[in-house]
Amino acid sequence: MTHSDGLTIACGESLKTALDRLTTSGEEALIVTNPQGAPLREVSERVLRRMRAAGFSDETPLTALPAGALAAVEETEAPEAAQSAMRAANLRLAAVRAPDGTLKAVVRRDRRDEPILLSPPHVGGEEEELALSAFDTNWIAPLGPNVEQFEKEIAAYLGVKAALALSSGSAGLHLAMALLGVKPGDLVFCSSFTFIASVAPALYQWAEPVFIDSEPESWNMSPAALENAFVAAEREGRKPKAVIVANLYGQSADYEPILKICDAYGVPVVEDAAESLGAHYKGRKSGSLGAFGVVSFNGNKIITTSGGGAIVSDDVEAIARARFLSTQARDPAPHYQHSVYGYNYRMSNILAGVGLGQLRLLERRVAQRRRVFDFYAAALGGVPGVNFMPEAAFGRSNRWLSTLAIDPNLTGGVGAADLMAALAAEKIESRPLWKPMHRQPLFEGKAYFSHGDNASVSDELFEQGLCLPSGTALTEAQLERVVETILKTLRR
Ligand SMILES: *Cc1c(COP(=O)(O)O)cnc(C)c1O
Repeated sequence: MTHSDGLTIACGESLKTALDRLTTSGEEALIVTNPQGAPLREVSERVLRRMRAAGFSDETPLTALPAGALAAVEETEAPEAAQSAMRAANLRLAAVRAPDGTLKAVVRRDRRDEPILLSPPHVGGEEEELALSAFDTNWIAPLGPNVEQFEKEIAAYLGVKAALALSSGSAGLHLAMALLGVKPGDLVFCSSFTFIASVAPALYQWAEPVFIDSEPESWNMSPAALENAFVAAEREGRKPKAVIVANLYGQSADYEPILKICDAYGVPVVEDAAESLGAHYKGRKSGSLGAFGVVSFNGNKIITTSGGGAIVSDDVEAIARARFLSTQARDPAPHYQHSVYGYNYRMSNILAGVGLGQLRLLERRVAQRRRVFDFYAAALGGVPGVNFMPEAAFGRSNRWLSTLAIDPNLTGGVGAADLMAALAAEKIESRPLWKPMHRQPLFEGKAYFSHGDNASVSDELFEQGLCLPSGTALTEAQLERVVETILKTLRR
């Protein structure tokens, strides 16, 4: 049981005082009390920001709050009663009442038995305020001022000349394929160790993918394997239309050697930075290194608009063309006229409002994801056979997901599958690493170039790897639970 210090606020206090208290203490909520000291309701940051978005000033007293839910138990009840009251009402705090009805103490929600998810979206009150303003300004149309502002801020953040906000990262990759003139039967070189969304956009243009292995330093595209693929294609008198390079789990690929090879063959690089927004490569922002870069704001990514993405480039005309294609390719005429076909790929104004709020939190989210990784690495990094994804010397990873490979030869036979089963038994979500594209039934018989003659890095990673829960809202107690479960399994 916790004493109520810092977890209560009198109803005469202002909206601003309550918000400040929550943001500086890091507490999830407060219990509002009436002048007699009796508990009234729970209040969270989200509720307070909603009030402000609805036009209430900072000085508004909390008496203006609508009636809200309260989990309350009597002093005489067992501690479990407070926990079940909170769970039943989905609240964060419970008020313990003295016989005279006044607040005696406040209990926090015990989250020890609750499931821990891999990478749940983390959307705070600030985004909600901005999204609500999108309603207020009557701009629920597909386009509007938030979209324009979001594009400006994405371009400024990445240090590129132009950005186009879209309905998904996949849409961005597809537009890149269309802009580069990828046609049926064309070769497109792709990372093998990635999520299908890296490669599917090449298929939308009926291209033929050729898969390239990873290198051990970054787990991303191997320049050596890429070179071999170019040599083999040249021998057949062929050349790819594009190379799609994925930056996995928050880390950039090694673009200097990759771009050197691609430039030598005159082939453009499309950077799939869906997972690496916020990462750096040699002082540049991940997503800004290829002819086109694509980011994603899908629900599981480091920042999110529930669904969304963007394509960026220094080629302002190409982005203008992408804008045209993404809005049904309407010719400049007063009537609806079309000379080519396009797509309905634009981001809505409401979601761009969410994105503006999320973008402002990006650096904080990177720090939080890195804190999660550092916690795991400090607790488990010294265990023989446990190999965390390395951070290459060329830059900063955003550590979107904390990933590791387990070598069963060094753990007494315990492998990644054993750890995943043990974690699942504790209601902790974990996942295997991406299954390489060259091993997918969909791509049976497609060409694949491995890092070494006898070494396929992506195959080995797939066999040994797993992703641990990496959400930015994970508490230290939850991280302890993950680590304890892993250590217990390894010592078995
Ligand atoms: C998420 C993701 C994408 C696609 O992004 P969407 O916005 O979900 O379409 C592309 N590539 C990789 C590697 C991803 O993880």
